[in-house]
Amino acid sequence: MAIEKTLSIIKPDAVERNLQESFIQRFKKEGFKILAKKEALLTKEEAQDFYIEHKGKVFYESLVNYMTSGPVVLMVLERENAILKNREVMGATNPKDAAPGTLRKEYAVSLEKNSVHGSDSPASAAREVEFFFPELVKCC
Ligand code: UDP
Ligand code: MG
Repeated sequence: MAIEKTLSIIKPDAVERNLQESFIQRFKKEGFKILAKKEALLTKEEAQDFYIEHKGKVFYESLVNYMTSGPVVLMVLERENAILKNREVMGATNPKDAAPGTLRKEYAVSLEKNSVHGSDSPASAAREVEFFFPELVKCC
């Protein structure tokens, strides 16, 4: 299986509860390398653009407000099969449906405040890594 990169975001509800280190330890334990990491307060424009695929859905505006409500931690994770593996470690979008032992089952507050983001496909991983870490994407 191929070595992949994926974008992870520790969302405002988790940063607010100081869960960054717990999440990072979990990713390391699962064999991910943290290739890049930075804390940021997203602007409304960044959050709108990042979640553009959801524009027009009922939850979009609230999601953008939530994602700009406090600092997030942005990370590029790398390992074999990273995109799918990260989705497994995160658990289902709705914490009510998330499997035991997943980050969302353990930490999420609600469907919206579900503590963590992870790219859902190779195409979105490429887009999302470049979105926040353009310097990591080789050019020329
Ligand atoms: N979300 C929400 N209500 C919904 C679906 C999604 O508030 O009905 C939020 C939730 O924070 C989710 C994000 O929007 O993580 C993006 O939704 P997506 O379906 O892409 O889920 P994910 O890929 O994060 O599991
Ligand atoms: Mg998604």
